Amino acid sequence: MTSNEWPLLSWAEVDLDAIAHNVRALKAHIGPNVLLGPVLKGNAYGHGAVEVSKAVLEAGADWIIVNRSNEGVQLRQAGIAAPMLVLGYTLPQEAMRLVRWDLKPTVSNMQQIEALSAAGAALGKTVDVHVKLDTGLGRQGVLPHELLDFVRAIARTPHIRIEGMYTHFSVADEGAEDSVAYTRRQFDIFMAGREQVLRAGFELPICHVCNTAATLNWPEMHLQMVRCGSAIEGVYPSKDVRRTVALRPSFALKSHVARLKVLPPGSAISYGRTYVTERPTKVALVPVGFGDGYRRDLSNKGYALVRGRRANIIGRVCMDQHMLDVSHIPDVELHDEVVLIGRQGDDEITVEELGALLGTSPFEFVTCITPRIPRVYMRGGQVVHVEDLFRDGAEG
Ligand SMILES: *Cc1c(COP(=O)(O)O)cnc(C)c1O
Repeated sequence: MTSNEWPLLSWAEVDLDAIAHNVRALKAHIGPNVLLGPVLKGNAYGHGAVEVSKAVLEAGADWIIVNRSNEGVQLRQAGIAAPMLVLGYTLPQEAMRLVRWDLKPTVSNMQQIEALSAAGAALGKTVDVHVKLDTGLGRQGVLPHELLDFVRAIARTPHIRIEGMYTHFSVADEGAEDSVAYTRRQFDIFMAGREQVLRAGFELPICHVCNTAATLNWPEMHLQMVRCGSAIEGVYPSKDVRRTVALRPSFALKSHVARLKVLPPGSAISYGRTYVTERPTKVALVPVGFGDGYRRDLSNKGYALVRGRRANIIGRVCMDQHMLDVSHIPDVELHDEVVLIGRQGDDEITVEELGALLGTSPFEFVTCITPRIPRVYMRGGQVVHVEDLFRDGAEG
């Protein structure tokens, strides 16, 4: 992807057709009576929340889900009008912002409720809130024994409407027997809490518990909405997650060969001399490093594609660059395309395998690709938009 007017040394490609495909496939899987709420926190897992929001809504997604209020405001300012849920904790001081921009907060204490109520009164709005129930993640939310009192207190507060209730699973992506039992128990605790609230005479129009893994593995838990993050980007959270929906990966990370040289045996490569050549070695310099979010843990461990063949990283990954052993690729040339994530020729490097290589989740890796890497948005194989931190106002 090199254009003469704004050439890119290293860049990410986001395939909006793949994202649209994933949305349609998920919609087909959940059926017409369940809302699809793409989770676009963390700048849509590093893909770019504004462009991904537009793509998912155009493809039929119903809500947009973010983690922070400022993520929601960013999307509203970009013209995204869909119902928007904020998953993360919001301070009482954020109440005016939430209400002004029609963001639906997750609530877990009365200080939040009172601030939201005051904001609702000031702006003449009724504020839709979602109650989070902690059923075993030990993170956000009220505990089951606190639920009914909390709901009663909210119901007594003006300008607030409880639109929904939700919980989050801790091991829905794990297939081991005790993990499956744990997920079922979390669901049972949630349904018991829901039942208790309904029996007390309150309404809960939109209940939701499923992340990507549960959406794929547990159709009986879809309720009124599912919250899918990684599935939107085309990433299966783990090997244990059933391939009930054919997802297409949407993210590629690419660069160029920036230098080629043949070093004699005994040559040390990069900081710390952690790699020393044993034979004449053809080394390619790739200008992507941990300053781009390309993790230093990939030192002497990762690999990339050059001319459709895998080449190993040798030596440490530096802030701005790393080195590949391309000795076995005879025709490699300066400025050849290097694919660090994605497809080249007949081979493909997936974020799932890089996550596994690093002992982390596949989405941590993509989420952490920094804004220094321009995001190039593709449709039908054509560039439709470029998001570049450094582009604004720049000339060539
Ligand atoms: C991140 C998140 C999700 C989405 O998780 P995926 O596994 O990426 O689908 C859903 N719900 C909550 C509460 C989350 O924090």
